[in-house]
Amino acid sequence: MGNYDTPLPLDYDGLKKTYETLRVKCEQTEAALNERLKVEEELRESRERFETIFHQSNVAHKIINRDLDIIELNEAMAQLLGYPLNEILGTKIMDYTHPDFKGYWQDLQIALWKEEVNQFQLEACLITKDGSQAWVIVHTILFKDQGEKFGYTLLEDITTRKQLEHHKDEFISVISHELKTPMTSLKAQCQLMVRHLKKYEDAYADKMMAGIDKQLNRLTRFIHNLVLVSKIDSSKLQPEVNNYHLNEVISEVIEEIRLTAPKRTITSDITGSLPVKGDADKIYQVVYNLLTNAIKFSESSTAVHVTMKRQQSLAVVCIQDHGQGIPKENLEKIFERFYKVETPSSSVESGIGLGLFISSEIINHQNGRLWVESEPGKGSTFCFRLPILED
Ligand code: ADP
Repeated sequence: MGNYDTPLPLDYDGLKKTYETLRVKCEQTEAALNERLKVEEELRESRERFETIFHQSNVAHKIINRDLDIIELNEAMAQLLGYPLNEILGTKIMDYTHPDFKGYWQDLQIALWKEEVNQFQLEACLITKDGSQAWVIVHTILFKDQGEKFGYTLLEDITTRKQLEHHKDEFISVISHELKTPMTSLKAQCQLMVRHLKKYEDAYADKMMAGIDKQLNRLTRFIHNLVLVSKIDSSKLQPEVNNYHLNEVISEVIEEIRLTAPKRTITSDITGSLPVKGDADKIYQVVYNLLTNAIKFSESSTAVHVTMKRQQSLAVVCIQDHGQGIPKENLEKIFERFYKVETPSSSVESGIGLGLFISSEIINHQNGRLWVESEPGKGSTFCFRLPILED
């Protein structure tokens, strides 16, 4: 009986251990709780930040679900389209897209939702409520929220820039066409004058007239280039499509350049006859640009070599010079408009940096490709390829 009355001796060590374990557990739980609260707070702040940026930004934003329905948009987006925000909710961006841009945009959307790409960008035209056009650069990414996929799109309004570009294109187009007529007549009069002066055997007058003729040719090429650039910019560079022989076009250009630069050696290796489909006049212009550049950027004592060969279903044309070459860092940029490699020592008659831009646009429009290999001090080889007309 005494057993019940006798208090058990307290296991102080055991208690201490248990207390210590509980204390550590308590601290760990508190730390985990604090961590979680911190994460939640950060998440809330980040959501708030996103909401503020999304809704108060001057840039148009929208979020779409997997059915491509617009489930969220900001006021800037509503203003861009000219509709009240609520009227846009639940609709699709294709409802406002200009027909010319629907196909390409839809293809990109498909690739995005299939996760073949994780973002895309394109320039497109939207039709607003009043029927006017709104030009935008579209940036879209796919994101996941609680296991579900959404598309987030930012639309940069470039309508004003497009309108200015349009005015600039119109201006260049009008100016260049206005200049073309007097230039043609000046050129004709100049040639008549050259012929007339021949009778007098006046070396000085002949030299002057040759100088005038050369400058007139330069101006004519410049105006011609401006017309082409304005066509490229307004997407009006429609190639004439006919069947022609590439080798004949190249030979014609070589003959013409031999007349204007009789002291230069131009060799060629053009095997066979290659029929191609496309715009012979524009390809003439490309070969002309490449060959005049090769002449311009190499010493007169060096030769320029032109080759044309067949590579499977492609015709490949290369123009090689042994001139100054192009530094590696400039190689990509020379195909941009108005780009010229700065060479302070160069005595080259400078152009305005449009020839290669126009040439590569022309070749791209005819399903080809233009590229260059070059080594400073050794020379450059510009090549282009075009699909051969299969019989
Ligand atoms: P440009 O009217 O100035 O000749 P292009 O667009 O034809 O304009 O050429 C752009 C630039 O590329 C030239 O200014 C020159 O610096 C460089 N370039 C073009 N072709 C050659 C070449 N064959 N050799 C060296 N540099 C070249």
